[in-house]
Amino acid sequence: MSFVHSLQCKECGTQYPIEPRTICDNDFGPVEVAYDYEAMRGKVTRASIESGPRSLWRYRDLLPIEGEPRVGLRSGMTPLIKADNLAKELGVRELYVKDDSANYPTFSYKDRVVAVALTKALEFGFDTVGCASTGNLAHSVAAHAAAAGLRSFVMIPHDLEEGKVVGSLVFGPRMVKIKGNYDDVNRLCSQIADKYNWAIVNVNLRPFYTEGAKTHGFEIGEQLGWRLPRHTVVPVAGGTLLPKVYKAYQELITLGLVDDNEPRVYAAQAQGCNPVVDAIERGLNLFKPQKPHTIAKSIAIGNPADGYYVVNDVNQSGGYGASASDGEILDAVKLLARTEGIFTEPAGGTTLACAMKLIESGRIPRDETICVCITGNGLKTVEVMQDQFAQSPVIDAKLAEFDKIVQQIAEVPSGGSPRPPVTA
Ligand SMILES: *Cc1c(COP(=O)(O)O)cnc(C)c1O
Ligand SMILES: [Zn+2]
Repeated sequence: MSFVHSLQCKECGTQYPIEPRTICDNDFGPVEVAYDYEAMRGKVTRASIESGPRSLWRYRDLLPIEGEPRVGLRSGMTPLIKADNLAKELGVRELYVKDDSANYPTFSYKDRVVAVALTKALEFGFDTVGCASTGNLAHSVAAHAAAAGLRSFVMIPHDLEEGKVVGSLVFGPRMVKIKGNYDDVNRLCSQIADKYNWAIVNVNLRPFYTEGAKTHGFEIGEQLGWRLPRHTVVPVAGGTLLPKVYKAYQELITLGLVDDNEPRVYAAQAQGCNPVVDAIERGLNLFKPQKPHTIAKSIAIGNPADGYYVVNDVNQSGGYGASASDGEILDAVKLLARTEGIFTEPAGGTTLACAMKLIESGRIPRDETICVCITGNGLKTVEVMQDQFAQSPVIDAKLAEFDKIVQQIAEVPSGGSPRPPVTA
C-alpha cells in the first residue's frame, strides 16, 4: 500500500503517472511526487513511525515506493547531537548537529537519496543505474548498486579527492572521469539517460531520488521529540536537500505530528561557488550560474538544478543565506572536531561557518533552537586538512625522549597540535 498520488509539475500542476520522468511536457518545469495526505490521517502517526525500522524506511509512508524497501535497509537514523560544547563556543542557547557523516554505508547524506532511487529503479525493472556526481553520490550509488546486484556507471569530474574515487572503485562500478566540472558531467548524463535505457538517479529518477532527502528532515523532527528547530542551516549544491528538508517539515506539520513553529531554512555555500546565496543576498528570484573554485568540491555546483526552489523556499520560510571562504571552511571543520568530536568534510565546514556568520549578523537569534546539517565525512577528504597541523614528533621508543616531548608541549593548550609556524 502506498499514499503516492502522482507526479505533479511544480509549475503548472499537470499530473503524470508514476514513471521515470524529470520534467513537465508543457513547460519543462520539474515534476515532484505528490501524496494523498488526507488518506494518511490517522494512519501515519508518531506511533506508526516509531514502530518502524531504525532506518530511513521508518518514513516509507512518506516515500514514493510501492513494494517493500530493497536498498539502504540500514541507511538513515543518523545521530542528532545536542552540541553543547559548540553552543558555548558560539554563544547560543540550544544547538543541534544532524550528523550524516555517520550515515551508512558511505558516510554522507547521499545514502538517503540513493536508497530510495535504487529501490525505485528495481521497481521499474532497470538493470543498470548511474549518476552524475561530485563524489559522494558516486560513492553511494556504487555501494548500494553492488549490494542490490545492479550494474552501475558513475560519472565524476576528473579532479576529485582520492578518498571518494578509491572509495567508489572498491565496489566495482564503471567509473568515467569527465574533463570538466560537475555541470559538464551533468549535461553529459542527461544525454546518456536519453540514449541508454539506464536509471541515472539524479536525472531520470530525480523526482524519486530527491524524496529520499526528506528523511534527513523527518529525523530531525522526530529526534527532537516531535518538534522542529526554529532555524535549520543546510548546505546547497544541486539544491536537493534544502527544499526537501523544508518539505519534510511542512509534511510533519500537515500531518499534525509536530507544532508549526514557522521553521526557517538557511542556505550555506562556499564563497567560491555561491550562486544561490548570491541571489538571496541580492533579493533576486533567479540565480546566475558560476564557475566553481572551492575546496568544498562536493558542493561545487555552479548551475544547481533546483537552485530556483532553494531561493524560493529560503525566502518563503523567512530564512537567509551565507557563504564561507576556504579558510573559514577549514577553521570550521577544526572547530567541529575540537568541540564535538565530529570530523566532517569541507561541505560540513561550510555549513558550520555559514551558521556562525548568520548568528554573528543577528539573522539567527542566539536564544532559539538551531540545527546545523552536517552532510559528509572528513575521512574522505583528508588531503584538504594535511597542511593544517604540525608534524607529529618521531622518537626512539625511550621514555626519556617521550618526557622531553611532554615538557615541550606543556604550554600548548589541549585540543590538538598547533598550526605550524609560518616561518621556517
Ligand atoms: C550532495 C551534497 C550536499 C548537498 O547537495 P544538494 O545537491 O544541494 O542536495 C551537501 N553536502 C554533501 C557532503 C554532499 O555530498
Ligand atoms: Zn508544467
